[in-house]
Amino acid sequence: MRRTNRKTDTQGTERLQATVNRLWNRVPAYRAKMEQAGITPSDIRGVEDLCALPFTTKQDLRDAYPLGLLACGREELLRVHASSGTTGKMTIVAYTKNDLEAWKNCMANCLAIAGVTPRDTLQVMFGYGLFTGGLGFHYGGEHLGATVIPSGTGFTERQVQLMQDLGTTVIACTPSYAVHLSEVLASRRKDQPGSGHSLKAAILGAEPWSEALRQTVQEGLGVPALDIYGLSEVMGPGVAIECPCQNGLHLNEDHFLAEIVDPVTGERLPEGQEGELVITTLTKEALPLARYRTRDLTCILPGKCSCGRGGIRIARIRGRSDDMLIIKGVNVFPTQVEAALGRVEGLSMNYTLEVTEKNYVKDLSVSVESASGLGELEMERLERQAARTLHESLGLRVAVNVLLPGSLERFEGKAKRVRVASGA
Ligand SMILES: [Zn+2]
Repeated sequence: MRRTNRKTDTQGTERLQATVNRLWNRVPAYRAKMEQAGITPSDIRGVEDLCALPFTTKQDLRDAYPLGLLACGREELLRVHASSGTTGKMTIVAYTKNDLEAWKNCMANCLAIAGVTPRDTLQVMFGYGLFTGGLGFHYGGEHLGATVIPSGTGFTERQVQLMQDLGTTVIACTPSYAVHLSEVLASRRKDQPGSGHSLKAAILGAEPWSEALRQTVQEGLGVPALDIYGLSEVMGPGVAIECPCQNGLHLNEDHFLAEIVDPVTGERLPEGQEGELVITTLTKEALPLARYRTRDLTCILPGKCSCGRGGIRIARIRGRSDDMLIIKGVNVFPTQVEAALGRVEGLSMNYTLEVTEKNYVKDLSVSVESASGLGELEMERLERQAARTLHESLGLRVAVNVLLPGSLERFEGKAKRVRVASGA
């Protein structure tokens, strides 16, 4: 792991040791893992000893449902959130007063890196409630001193109205919703020429998205789209964010350590090599996590960002290891399909994937809207062209169905782009 300076080093070591001690003393399930691995907290003398610690997995959180991994008294909790997860049982995450303070600071720091200032108006179009997105942005924005509009998800006409009437300068939502929003804005401009917006940036996250989708959003909204990363298990949004250089995501190193490991063997991988992101929390009290396997695929970027900030940057998430589809023996990430569709002129970024299974063999088909209304012959030409591009990019023949604009469902929260249907 690359480290920036002695101060960060010493602080990182102290915080890591405190976290390991807390787990050892207060979380029997993690202590048992350490004992099984034959280590005690005194074996962790510095950040370089991190890889001696056992991993924590999503399954560990599920097994401990609801609060079996709690490292503080129940009475110290101020809030809980939950992540549903597309598969399996919900997991509960919990926060003490200091955890909420730290989260607020992490989010405010992220927003500042993205260029948000107290003069900005931040419209939070993430879900408020058990999902960490809404409240994470909300308190971070307020802490920074920005004006926060807690508009939540959906009601797109009302979102646009608020954006225009209150002069929203920064929006926060999922990338797929940003596409939808830009479509609604475009049709409004047609009806009421001169109606615009005051946006200067869009901060997008909660689902993996490709550079192609980024281009679509940036062209649609006319502002930079910045990627933010976080996950409820380790806190919520605010773990890392892109600066306006769009050159990887700056990690909040005061609160997290990041490693990249081989998803299969768990071996630590060197800088620049893609693998699974593993996060260790440094300041969490209620639910400290040592070496949490995020299942998100990325790498630690070498070199320094052109913004001049030092420290660790991670590449944009290519996908989650659980999202990987295996189609006729070929590994396919939905973001790869998205990137390939983005290269076909005339297609929009509204698409869904359907996986069908016949005799234990999976097949993939793609439905995608054209960017504008077209005749039948042009649609067929686009289908052939998209199929060719997907074949070249994935090494796989995929059936493509091009649809007229507006045919597919729009998503207000996390996009559900992959449908799995099992056939006979
Ligand atoms: Zn930067």
